Amino acid sequence: MSDKPASPASPEKNENSNPASDFIREAVAADLASGKTKEVRTRFPPEPNGWLHIGHTKAFLIDFGVAADFGGKCNLRFDDTNPEKEDMSYVEAIKRDIAWLGCDWEDREFYASDYYERLYELAVKLIRKGVAYVDDLSAEQMSEYRGTAVADKSNITVTPPGRNSPWRDRSVEENLDLFARMRAGEFPDGSKTLRAKIDMAHPNLLMRDPPMYRIRREPHYRTGTTWCIYPMYDFQHPLSDAIEGVTHSLCSLEYEIHRPLYDWFIREAEVFPSRQIEFARLSITHFVLSKRWLLRLVQEGRVAGWDDPRMPTLSGLRRRGYSPEAIRDFISRIGVAKTDSMVDVQFLEHCLREDLNKRANRVMAVLRPLKLVVENWPAGKVEQLEAVNNPEDPAAGTRKVPFSGTLYIERDDFMETPPPKYFRLFPGNSVRLRYGYIVTCTGFSKDPASGEVTEVRCSYDPATRGGDAPDNRKVKGTIHWVDAPSAVKLEARLYDHLFEAERPMDVPEGKDWVETINPKSLETVAGALGEPGLAAAKPGDRFQFERLGYFCADNDSAPGALVFNRTVSLRDTWAKIEKKGG
Ligand code: ATP
Ligand code: MG
Repeated sequence: MSDKPASPASPEKNENSNPASDFIREAVAADLASGKTKEVRTRFPPEPNGWLHIGHTKAFLIDFGVAADFGGKCNLRFDDTNPEKEDMSYVEAIKRDIAWLGCDWEDREFYASDYYERLYELAVKLIRKGVAYVDDLSAEQMSEYRGTAVADKSNITVTPPGRNSPWRDRSVEENLDLFARMRAGEFPDGSKTLRAKIDMAHPNLLMRDPPMYRIRREPHYRTGTTWCIYPMYDFQHPLSDAIEGVTHSLCSLEYEIHRPLYDWFIREAEVFPSRQIEFARLSITHFVLSKRWLLRLVQEGRVAGWDDPRMPTLSGLRRRGYSPEAIRDFISRIGVAKTDSMVDVQFLEHCLREDLNKRANRVMAVLRPLKLVVENWPAGKVEQLEAVNNPEDPAAGTRKVPFSGTLYIERDDFMETPPPKYFRLFPGNSVRLRYGYIVTCTGFSKDPASGEVTEVRCSYDPATRGGDAPDNRKVKGTIHWVDAPSAVKLEARLYDHLFEAERPMDVPEGKDWVETINPKSLETVAGALGEPGLAAAKPGDRFQFERLGYFCADNDSAPGALVFNRTVSLRDTWAKIEKKGG
């Protein structure tokens, strides 16, 4: 277990503040105005024990954003003091993701593990001042002595005072000696702990003589076996901030109850007066935003890795087809609030669609192909039809799509016996083929054994090229298609939420949360076909497949074996909710 605060499982709904002038920027502006702060310095302090998720993105966009707004700088500091869980591969992944969002820490890449010696000296300073001591109680005894919060008769939470450790009043000399010997490796793991001497009756349990150092013989990914004692988060974090001259240490709300301790260590160590300010954690419906949970999904192989396109990690969202601009826009629109809130995933998808609508070129692809033969098409003739790449962006130009009279359409776009209000193909009905002609269904064939439709036939009207009927005939439906001889094969991966529950972290009683994974969160469509231009798509290229959604070429995609992830469908449920004023 990490010694850091656990993420709250289910924040409450609330109104978000106006992002234009949030309370953090107001506080920073006030510190500058009073002269307390000369130059703004913030930091983003990820622990390299997992990949970043979209919740961390909110944090680092605030950290980098606040610094930039006040002409300051933001450090990237790896808070790496839990050797058993940390790794260089996480450091690399974290840096890649922050850079992808366009944040630049320049040469300010720091590691708490580089401060071990300095932190050790500060601990010695606290021992000398008589405000830290070596305790021989075991971890269990310590927590028992500390006491717990209980509900009294009127169901109000109270915290009866804890008990002092019998080792609390060791002399400064003895403490200095024991601490040096802890470092030297004379004692077994867990047998001694350096604690701050604060107040065992403090109403905030965290203030009841919190541990500062534990003995842990675990090689560290950067310091190797140099150390067998490691600093605890609550001691390390404020002092690392101070060492770096961080003026404003911005973090999510679960650290609020740690603030008295943060201030205590800064004051007692007599170091640079960094100031902690908390903001609401980001939570999104259907998303799990906790590294611990995400790690389990990866370790147990329940997803294809940290960058599985269903993961809420930045690498997963990137692979899925999210643009950094869409994520930035989302974060800036939800604003910075002081109370936790739950954001509807449909709002995230709304921001995504708005962005992709501007940047993604349109192409035609068919997920479940059904052959369509234009019976009166001149044999051997191939026409090049002109198609607009992006109606939102005239600079994107046009392209030619071949049309040979043998096509594939979407299986759904034909019905033998149509229901009411079905405007696509059925015997006798006419539709417009996108960028092409108006065609009328003349017949179809079926597999006698399975009853499945195997081919649809139609005739075309040469006077309707481009889709307009000269006689203003009413044709309600327009369908997409691909030309059969030139079509390229592709695999389409269609996604649904990884968790069907709106709040997957509220696990039903008696259930293991991994059992709540949506078994239909990935549907692989192997036999899809696309227009010939898609053959050149490279991993990361984004398109709108007309009528089907936004798609992005996957990392697995290669010439001849194209793979596309559906980033998001076209239907914007959020826009509808907004219109209704809901
Ligand atoms: P998790 O809670 O997912 O296990 P963590 O908080 O333990 O993550 P850190 O690497 O310590 O992970 O996070 C770095 C910073 O990101 C912290 O300052 C924390 O406040 C912030 N942060 C983490 N999750 C969120 C979130 N959902 N919303 C906003 N900020 C977050
Ligand atoms: Mg956390």
